[in-house]
Amino acid sequence: MKVCKFGGSSLADATQLNKVMDIVLADPARRIVVVSAPGKRHSGDTKVTDLLITLAQKAIDGENTDLAFGDVVERYASIADELKLGDGITKKIEADLKERLQQVSALANEEFLDLMKAAGEDNNAKLVAEAFAARGKASRYVSPKDTGLVLKGGFGDAQLDPDSYARLSRAFSNFEGLVIYPGFFGYTKEGKVATFPRGGSDITGSILAAAVCADVYENFTDVDSVYPCDPRIVEDVKKGEGIPTMTYREMRELSYAGFGVFNDDAVIPAVKARIPINIRNTNHPSAPGTMIQQSRRVIPGTVVGIASADGFCNIVVEKYLMNRQIGFGRRLLQVLENEGISYEHMPSGVDSQCVVVKEQFLPKEKEHKIIQHLRKELEPDYITIERDLTMLMVVGEGMCYTPGMLAKACLALASAGISMSMVNQGSSEVSFMIAIRKQDRDAAVKALYKVFFG
Ligand code: ASP
Repeated sequence: MKVCKFGGSSLADATQLNKVMDIVLADPARRIVVVSAPGKRHSGDTKVTDLLITLAQKAIDGENTDLAFGDVVERYASIADELKLGDGITKKIEADLKERLQQVSALANEEFLDLMKAAGEDNNAKLVAEAFAARGKASRYVSPKDTGLVLKGGFGDAQLDPDSYARLSRAFSNFEGLVIYPGFFGYTKEGKVATFPRGGSDITGSILAAAVCADVYENFTDVDSVYPCDPRIVEDVKKGEGIPTMTYREMRELSYAGFGVFNDDAVIPAVKARIPINIRNTNHPSAPGTMIQQSRRVIPGTVVGIASADGFCNIVVEKYLMNRQIGFGRRLLQVLENEGISYEHMPSGVDSQCVVVKEQFLPKEKEHKIIQHLRKELEPDYITIERDLTMLMVVGEGMCYTPGMLAKACLALASAGISMSMVNQGSSEVSFMIAIRKQDRDAAVKALYKVFFG
């Protein structure tokens, strides 16, 4: 059995929805279809989820909601019209939205916002089920409520309550035929609608794939495959092949450094259950896409991808004979912990210790206070904080036990006149990372791409 998830761009209009139906009908193993809300039809367009947020905000502010309400309904109505579904589904969607809007004074703002946001996928799943019926394929709209998808944590940023797996797996064992399931939301224990973070339909798909032990989780989007580096930096990458297979480990390393493959929350359920994830293109369904799985055949000396992420800073603490002080590292980290700052990496020298943290957790206003605390706690010789760093990440299982991979990267950067602030290679050898100045990022990615893929 395959669980497939279709993103907003795959469901933005009737033409796209027809492609989705073709894909699903082409393979009877595609039994569970998770849908997003309709997304952008073109670059200047607005996603239905964003239209719903505007609508909800107007209701919260006590403003007139007619226009914003019309904008949402119109998106569904145009799809229903083009597919000749009749106006029944549009009327149902209108009634549903009105009912939700009435909750504005009964719910806290964030609860109301989630109730409204969830309307995007919920109504789309109903519409998609009707569209299948119109194509002569019986399908069943199934909701997170029917299947016990319970969420915990904050509204707008909810997480799965793991007890849900048993309920989901039981519920799905009772369904025959094709199921259409709305992504992005579930219910709290108290029965209130709560949503995952934005883009959360990927998470729903991954959870369902794990719950039913799917053979594969197909995630349909609008690219043929994952590219080995950011095509906005290296345009030529689009002419190449894309990544046919990568391991979960490789994906995790690449998405850590900004690869938009999948967010971590979406990956965890499928990875834990060892379900392969197949990223595919709705607009080019014959392309095999990128398969992400536990292991793959590896050619020694090869790299799978190069990622880069901005927004890092490096706290450098120097103290002569630091290595002889017991507890130095612990005290350093304690200061950060006390300030609620999590650290990313900790490369060290003989008499120096670096702590790389994300700049968002160490804003300039906090810097003085942290330095004061570190001085008091560690009595160092020097403390400096380097800002505006970009982390380059070179990833590939093929690098393990292959000499010279880091040397190749360093040489490429040196030839491009780029100096490195920090180098870090984990013991797994599946990746190494290099910190550089942000202004050198594009040149660095280009140089690395050339040397490893050129
Ligand atoms: N519709 C939601 C969003 O735009 C969730 C999703 O598409 O995955 O964030």
